[in-house]
Amino acid sequence: MSGTQRRTALVTGGGSGIGRAIALRLAADGFATAVLDLDKDAAESVAGEARGSGHEAMAVAGVDVSDRVQVNAAFEVVRSAFGPVVTLVNNAGKSGFKEFLKITDASWDQIMAVNLSGPFYCCQAAIPDMIEAGWGRIVNISSSSAHSGQQYMTHYVSSKAGLIGLTKSLALEFGPKGITVNTVPPGFVDTPMLRGSEQRGLLGSSVEDIAAVTPVRRAGRPEDIAAACSFLVSEEAGYITGQIIGVNGGRNT
Ligand code: NAP
Repeated sequence: MSGTQRRTALVTGGGSGIGRAIALRLAADGFATAVLDLDKDAAESVAGEARGSGHEAMAVAGVDVSDRVQVNAAFEVVRSAFGPVVTLVNNAGKSGFKEFLKITDASWDQIMAVNLSGPFYCCQAAIPDMIEAGWGRIVNISSSSAHSGQQYMTHYVSSKAGLIGLTKSLALEFGPKGITVNTVPPGFVDTPMLRGSEQRGLLGSSVEDIAAVTPVRRAGRPEDIAAACSFLVSEEAGYITGQIIGVNGGRNT
């Protein structure tokens, strides 16, 4: 695929936080960008914001990544409007905080469904387009907690560790087809998810106090993750695949 052809990107969980920043960045980079989110208003607002800045974007709103039927239908809508989906960022995620012995089957299954089955469904929907194009880019947003482990988040951390395994295996299988697959594990990024954890007392301290002892002396910004994604989906990142690119202010080295 030549650089002059239009490329379509789909960002899951694009309505909020990190996904919003990634969607706006990819749209600004020139991708026709589909903003997929469970939250209908949020997806439409982000797509509208990108269009307001003169970029090409659409919302695929009210779609649950943990439902394969909804995922396949959403990809079909995007394909019809923007063409083959050759760039995919699996960002939608669900957090959880519970003592291990109190995690229910339902909670375990729900977190796995969103954080691991969702990317599985989205990758299966997108990769045929990428094979056809002979070019593709996938970035999976995992978590620094999968480097370090995190008490009371065993279900969440296990799902994100699985996402790292998905990344590495897909990189090996589809490298010969021109498709790269990498993962960005964010750490301590100031988003509604992080502030929600702070408000529920789950961080053990305030965001500001933790930022003060972070090596770069600040919390991450969604734009920090978006910048890494922008590079990983670019033409010049074609020799980078199967990698874990930590963006965490030095909190995990
Ligand atoms: P966020 O602000 O909560 O945004 C997540 C977005 O994903 C929300 O718009 C949410 O919609 C959407 N979403 C949730 N479940 C979905 C589903 N089943 N189908 C479609 N969309 C769904 O979170 P964030 O902090 O930006 O996190 C983005 C990603 O980074 C997540 O995968 C998270 O695990 C990862 N991460 C974040 C941090 C951090 O420090 N913030 C650290 C490590 C990893 P609703 O609002 O409707 O639920």
